[in-house]
Amino acid sequence: IEWTVDEGWHDAAVVPYGPLSLDPAASVFHYAQEIFEGIKAYRHADGSVWTFRPDANGHRLQRSAERLALPKLAVEDFVESLKQLVAVDEKWVPSADETSLYLRPFMIATESFLGVRAAHRVGYYVIASPAGAYFTGGVAPVSIWLSTTYSRAGKGGTGAAKTGGNYAASLLPQEEAYQHGCSQVLFLNSTDGAYIEELGGMNVVLVYRDGTIVTPDSDSILEGITRDSILQLAEDRGHRVERRRVSIDEWRDGVASGDIVEVFACGTAAVVVPIAELKGDGVSIVSPVAGPDSLTLSLRAELTDIQYGRRPDRHGWLTRLDA
Ligand code: PMP
Repeated sequence: IEWTVDEGWHDAAVVPYGPLSLDPAASVFHYAQEIFEGIKAYRHADGSVWTFRPDANGHRLQRSAERLALPKLAVEDFVESLKQLVAVDEKWVPSADETSLYLRPFMIATESFLGVRAAHRVGYYVIASPAGAYFTGGVAPVSIWLSTTYSRAGKGGTGAAKTGGNYAASLLPQEEAYQHGCSQVLFLNSTDGAYIEELGGMNVVLVYRDGTIVTPDSDSILEGITRDSILQLAEDRGHRVERRRVSIDEWRDGVASGDIVEVFACGTAAVVVPIAELKGDGVSIVSPVAGPDSLTLSLRAELTDIQYGRRPDRHGWLTRLDA
């Protein structure tokens, strides 16, 4: 769909996948005026195709748009864009267990204009890619690298928006994480570096022995929809959920004293992953291994069962895409 200052959103179309033609002066290339979303389509056992909480992604896209001075796309139009793409060829949606179609909606400033101001011409697109099971042969715990040199987002910055610039800022620390044998980087808050923010592409959750679940509250992290859903499922089971600042010392001391019994990361791609180890400059926190009876794996199973239609969707989280 195209948007212009004069006409608003217009000319929605589904076209064959291929290169986009953009002027080299398009503002997205120079000022990174861009936002995106990540959401999946799941095929249920009866062949129908569903997605999970698209309204939440649609609202998050609107919040990102506001921060990046991009136009607002109605949530109904966002959901319709997913339906239209899936309708083209719903055979794309894999039918095997724990596989899905990853949908990537994104909005970019397409106006040819080199002055620094919000673009008057914008494009919104959705592309899709079949996604295999993230884990084959069981959910494997991951090691995380603590970045003390770099931060991902600062106070008043774009941390809460899903915009390419945040990911550009995390590429170098992410490389550092790989070099140290870790799959993701953990960022601390930028003002004093004492509090946990999030991973390069996932949120972090700590589980206490008494069943309390704690997750960082910050206005510079991405409000993950997986995290929100997992915490809701935990609350449904009677767990106390605390959204508050969490320091790296709390993590270390809690694991050392045995008060923190599980730590996991969550996001659309991998759903829920146990964090086995956090390491970095002078830091090494080895968390207890999440066993088959852990809360981590049982919440993961509950959420994926809902997404694949194997358990009742009591919160009304699923939206059918192919009808
Ligand atoms: N934080 C960041 C930086 C992310 O990129 C993601 C993935 N979108 C998340 C958290 C998790 O968000 P969600 O559960 O909505 O995928």
